[in-house]
Amino acid sequence: MPEDSSEKTGGSPSDSRREPEVATGDSEPTVNISGGEDGGGVEATFDPATANTRAEAVVDRLGQRYWQKTYGGQPAFECLVRTILSQNTSDVASQPAHDALLERYGGPETDLAVALADAEQATLAETISSAGLYNQKSRVIIEAATWVIAEFGSTAAFDEYVAAGDPGAVRQTLLSVNGVGPKTADCVLLFAGGRGGVFPVDTHVHRIYRRLGIAPADADHEAVREVLERAVPAAKCGFGHTASIQFGREFCSARAPACLEDPDACPMADLCDQVGVYPATGEIVDPAAAPEGSGGD
Ligand code: SF4
Repeated sequence: MPEDSSEKTGGSPSDSRREPEVATGDSEPTVNISGGEDGGGVEATFDPATANTRAEAVVDRLGQRYWQKTYGGQPAFECLVRTILSQNTSDVASQPAHDALLERYGGPETDLAVALADAEQATLAETISSAGLYNQKSRVIIEAATWVIAEFGSTAAFDEYVAAGDPGAVRQTLLSVNGVGPKTADCVLLFAGGRGGVFPVDTHVHRIYRRLGIAPADADHEAVREVLERAVPAAKCGFGHTASIQFGREFCSARAPACLEDPDACPMADLCDQVGVYPATGEIVDPAAAPEGSGGD
């Protein structure tokens, strides 16, 4: 998902060669575009009293505070392009780039992947410049579009493959594309494929669930994903992802977690181990560097 630039890695350390890492400095929007009334998805309801794990209890509480939804149905290739544009920048910056790209290369009579595979890189880079890293992102998008046409023949065939294929196989296929790391692949599976049990891990999710002590303090993005996909019921993983991003922005930010000043300021306080957060001294360290770092649960 789109997010801030403060500590982004775009995937586990081993994925860093795949997804761009340079921050753009765009300011963070207040609302996650995948959540809220206008964020897409279908409203759903769950009974928070039935949580079986602490992770599920956290997600239930996020669902009560923000939204409970199921996702799916977005065109997969467009979703892939949108997610690539959102890497290492904010929704505020990537949304205009997405809109400008569709205006220039999309349209009802146009195959988007064909148009982008044929795009002149400098023109595409200029079109998406508001998203930052436009040279790198334009290259990745053209490569991905070329790959889609070579492997599937059309945008529609790729969209159909993502919607209907085995999720594990689709994930591996997406990961084979240069510039596509685990978070991007998981976002496509979630928002286009509508797959339950997919909990994309961005920088907010990676930070929050290690601070909570739910994932091991030294877990990389993939390890956090595995913990959450085991502990959170499949139907709750999608909004667990989008609502966690919102929670990270509002309460458990990288540099100013709400509990640092006021122990009662965070709605998750009773569920949290505060790994790497020290209200007594005002210090914050990455959970992996915290002496009390737990093994997770
Ligand atoms: S109690 Fe602090 S560290 Fe824990 S989730 Fe809330 S803000 Fe984050």
